Amino acid sequence: MDELRRRYLKQQAELGGRDVVLEGPTRQAHGVARGTPPAPEPAEAPLQRAPVAGGEARPGGAGTKDWRVGAPAIPGPGLTIARDLLAALPDYPDLAAVAAAVGDCRGCFLCQGRTKVVPGEGNPLARLVLVGEGPGQTEDETGRPFVGKAGELLTGILAAIGLPRSEVFICNVVKCRPPQNRKPLPDEMAACLPYLRAQLDLINPKVIVALGSTAAEALLGVKKSLAELRLKVHSYRGTPLVVTYHPAALLRNPHWKKPTWDDVRIARQLLDA
Ligand code: SF4
Repeated sequence: MDELRRRYLKQQAELGGRDVVLEGPTRQAHGVARGTPPAPEPAEAPLQRAPVAGGEARPGGAGTKDWRVGAPAIPGPGLTIARDLLAALPDYPDLAAVAAAVGDCRGCFLCQGRTKVVPGEGNPLARLVLVGEGPGQTEDETGRPFVGKAGELLTGILAAIGLPRSEVFICNVVKCRPPQNRKPLPDEMAACLPYLRAQLDLINPKVIVALGSTAAEALLGVKKSLAELRLKVHSYRGTPLVVTYHPAALLRNPHWKKPTWDDVRIARQLLDA
């Protein structure tokens, strides 16, 4: 098996999928080793299964499982942020104009410690926008969002639901790195939010995923735990919004990978809805 497929299958297994990664020349990567009983199916969250289109194997995806297998059904509604509840946005013609404004911004304390601003990147016509908290060290050095270990994990999760990173748009609530990667302060988030709102307005995605409680707090305007915000389809100015764990949190706590896998599959279904 080539290294790319081995890593993909390993991540599927870590995320709660049923693929098994077996090392060694006499073993198979798809399902079970020859001559051994099937591996037990992992416990599923007590949610209704989504219909499986086309059986378990993804067309053209030999050796992998369809992301729909075992995916939870789309949950019920959550919070609603109405369009007219937000103040009027600055009139940016496109995402490049937003990025240029961010580059010149000294709107909060975070400008003092930044190496580079990280406005966000991706497809300006993305159907899916993912919003994180703020840049970390690698992002601050490169000016790109989610490029460290957490970024690699996010890229893998997106690949697992059939979305190349180049098809989505990824950004953060604040565009400059908070010192010691602390959570942005309320005034910093308030100062930076117009840029995020402008990006979302310009892209007008079909689905938004908030990565972590800070992104959820910024977008939904409430301070609630992830347990309270997950497994609901919120509405951000008419756009479905799903809340899940931040990839950096998954690196610290692998037990959150399975719930995250469920959340992103809910988001993926909303894209197809
Ligand atoms: S974090 Fe946002 S508001 Fe603060 S200086 Fe950077 S771009 Fe401006």
